[in-house]
Amino acid sequence: MAKKTIRDLEVTGKTALVRVDFNVPMKNGEITDDNRIRQALPTINALIEKNAKVVLFSHLGRVKTEEDKAGKSLKPVAEALSEQLVRPVKFVGYTRGIELETAITSMKAGDVLMFENTRFEDIDGKKESKNDPELGKYWASLGDVFVNDAFGTAHRAHASNVGIATHMDEVAAGLLVEKEIKFIGGAVSNPERPFYAILGGAKVSDKIGVISNLLDIADKVLIGGGMSYTFLKAQGYEIGKSLVEDDKLDLAKSLMEKGKDKLVFAEDFKLAKEFKNDTPIRIADRDDIQKDEEGLDIGPKSLELFQNLIKEAKTVVWNGPVGVFEFENFAQGTLGILEALASQKDTTTILGGGDSAAAAISLGYEDKITHISTGGGASLEYLEGKELPGIKIIDEIN
Ligand code: AMP
Repeated sequence: MAKKTIRDLEVTGKTALVRVDFNVPMKNGEITDDNRIRQALPTINALIEKNAKVVLFSHLGRVKTEEDKAGKSLKPVAEALSEQLVRPVKFVGYTRGIELETAITSMKAGDVLMFENTRFEDIDGKKESKNDPELGKYWASLGDVFVNDAFGTAHRAHASNVGIATHMDEVAAGLLVEKEIKFIGGAVSNPERPFYAILGGAKVSDKIGVISNLLDIADKVLIGGGMSYTFLKAQGYEIGKSLVEDDKLDLAKSLMEKGKDKLVFAEDFKLAKEFKNDTPIRIADRDDIQKDEEGLDIGPKSLELFQNLIKEAKTVVWNGPVGVFEFENFAQGTLGILEALASQKDTTTILGGGDSAAAAISLGYEDKITHISTGGGASLEYLEGKELPGIKIIDEIN
């Protein structure tokens, strides 16, 4: 059954409660990456066009104490959204109460309102994060239909997604959730082949489930980044001072046993004696890493190998940088993969959220990648093959 989306909703004059993921990175009160706001615009605009009263809510960061509230108000996000929508967004600085209720009942069709950070409800007993039934029921009482467009939070069962949905008669996915299901869900369930996955990032332990599931589904799994060295050590190579998880060597061995020649490792590395950008670099094959060296990027041979594999793929999913891309001198591997993906015209290229996605956007590759996920943890859990509670609940209600 196709998922019910806002296309299927009749919302004229109705109050649509819309959970978005506006958990955007902020520095000194400024939004440093507005991707999640931009990605929510299609749903918000569609609901405005359908003459709904649009009530938006989201979490922002973690809030456990009164002090944590500083810098976590959604007010600046409401202002940024207003600019993007080119229309007023009324911000209500509460998560419940008469002021919020009155503001909602005085809305007209096409109006947009945003209320305060849902995690402000966590100060008193983690009501939001523990899906307190009273809170979900209360928020549900504020509107007529519920739309979940918060993919980045879909792997959590919180009051503002699962809780609220259980108290509504009409629930639908937003267009961003629909898009994430189409691309990430599509890659996992029915990819056009060859389907290759590229996995990097710091640790094997963060991505065990993803590697394991993708070894079942993908035709090849290319491994780069900090996690490579645990696999290399498990194969008996000297890895010097490279990042390693010694307690995951057996796990690495069992993943290699499972993956056999589906697993592709880097053949050479950029090595340094110190973990910093300005330091002498030596490029060496994987069997030539010295005790006082650490691998900070894949080498040119490996990049060429990965790029050639990308060229033959029809679907590529990528999560995690293949080197310490924050250091300019060790960013070539990650950038080279990005360039190879960007130049593939007939390949579905998907970036799971997190660092590689943020890098792609900040380097201007956004339009050249088929889909850049807005969910870090959520996209990883989706790639692991897990059901996401925030998505599952939409089908359960319908
Ligand atoms: P993750 O959040 O797991 O995707 O990891 C991203 C982090 O992994 C980035 O901050 C990278 O700097 C780091 N990383 C990637 N490759 C290496 C490496 N060879 N050594 C140390 N850290 C790395």
